[in-house]
Amino acid sequence: MFTKVRTRIAPSPTGMMHLGTARTAIYCWAVARHFGGEFLLRIEDTDRERSTPEAVQVILDAMKWLNLDYDNTEVVYQMDRLGRYREVVNELLAKGLAYKCYATKEELEQMREDQKARGEKPRYDGRWRPENCVGKAIPEGVTPVIRFRNPDDGIVTWNDGVYGPISIANSELDDLVIMRGDGIPTYNFAVVIDDWDMQISHVIRGADHINNTPRQINIYRAIGAEVPTFAHLPLIHGEDGQKLSKRHGTVSVLAYEELGFLPEAIFNYLARLGWAHGDAEKFSREELAEWFKLEDCSRSAAQFSMDKLKWLNHEYIKEADNHRLADLIRHRLEKRSANVTNNEHLVEIIGLLKDRASTLEDLADECMLFYRDPVITEEMIREQLESNEGKSLAAVKRFLEEARNLEWKRENILATIKAIMKELKCKMPHIAFPIRVLVTGEKHTPSIDITLEILGKDRVISQIEKGLKGW
Ligand code: GLU
Repeated sequence: MFTKVRTRIAPSPTGMMHLGTARTAIYCWAVARHFGGEFLLRIEDTDRERSTPEAVQVILDAMKWLNLDYDNTEVVYQMDRLGRYREVVNELLAKGLAYKCYATKEELEQMREDQKARGEKPRYDGRWRPENCVGKAIPEGVTPVIRFRNPDDGIVTWNDGVYGPISIANSELDDLVIMRGDGIPTYNFAVVIDDWDMQISHVIRGADHINNTPRQINIYRAIGAEVPTFAHLPLIHGEDGQKLSKRHGTVSVLAYEELGFLPEAIFNYLARLGWAHGDAEKFSREELAEWFKLEDCSRSAAQFSMDKLKWLNHEYIKEADNHRLADLIRHRLEKRSANVTNNEHLVEIIGLLKDRASTLEDLADECMLFYRDPVITEEMIREQLESNEGKSLAAVKRFLEEARNLEWKRENILATIKAIMKELKCKMPHIAFPIRVLVTGEKHTPSIDITLEILGKDRVISQIEKGLKGW
């Protein structure tokens, strides 16, 4: 019996972390935290072509960004465990539960062609099973692979944590290659040895692995290991109902950081995608850990919705600390050629604008109001100053006079504008619109007093003077 709940995420380093892998990791994390168990990370790096240190780093970065804290300080790498796989293979060979297969690639292709031609399902025919090759000469120059001797009869059944009971007849399965000629194990073998050695009690992964599970259960039995609970998660679909892929846009978790999403929004969104707790849409990591049950996961594919993700991100941006947002926005502003010298200003600007932004990129765009040189045409100025029967022009002129002697604080700016409104019997838009346009080039900005205060007295005065030239 497993003494503890242990889950793991076992990504292959392919250069990115897919949203689906991240969601699986979140559920593995939640199960471990729910039961006070452990959540482990293993890197399945046996694909030598794709596995580079950079690709591994991407996984570590994505885990960190999502704050998926795993419990093993030493991450497990499959390539460090080749000796262990070899040891188990040797035991299986000694027990007759595995055997060497010398069939060449060409021979196996021919076998499959023949099977197809006969209308049969292509499968390895057991030609190198010991009983089938008595007296057969071992071909020269062929490095054998090792195959697992799958039981011929019986049915493999497991009670899937999400899908419930699933059964597959052994007659459907063939003898799987478990170790290649170069001594590198295949996925289905390495995963079992690793999960066994790491004492994983719950194997939670994508539904694309359901077909692998009966094969893996047979290997567990052959090595005399306790079979864990398996739970498979339906795939994520794009908005068109097809499996989520690059075709749908961004599928890499870290790319969402660049697009301006907060990690807690992605965490929450992915957790909710395929699992529900009543009608809760926005919840914390702690709530997820408390509420999460595998049996509450949906059995049908979840559909990714950018609109919903943006809504959630907006909710998290609204409540995020302004200093933190400033740290996350600064490089985005610099990319837009802003010169951010005063952090407190930026913090204030963010406080002013964040309620309207659904991503950090939107927020950066909005913040540029305070950092760019405005583009203001003569027509824009004329449109403002000629309107309202000269009242706007008079109001702006009066404001300029007063502004020069004003202690530059929002309450003083507002009081001055109100006094001018009274004096000239005009309304707020008569004065606020032209000032906005003259100073920023925009008709709509956050409230005029705060906007002007943040822009600073010198800049406001010089912009108005420039705009009023010739009027
Ligand atoms: N490396 C496999 C994958 O990324 C892991 C599957 C599993 O969790 O067993 O799909």
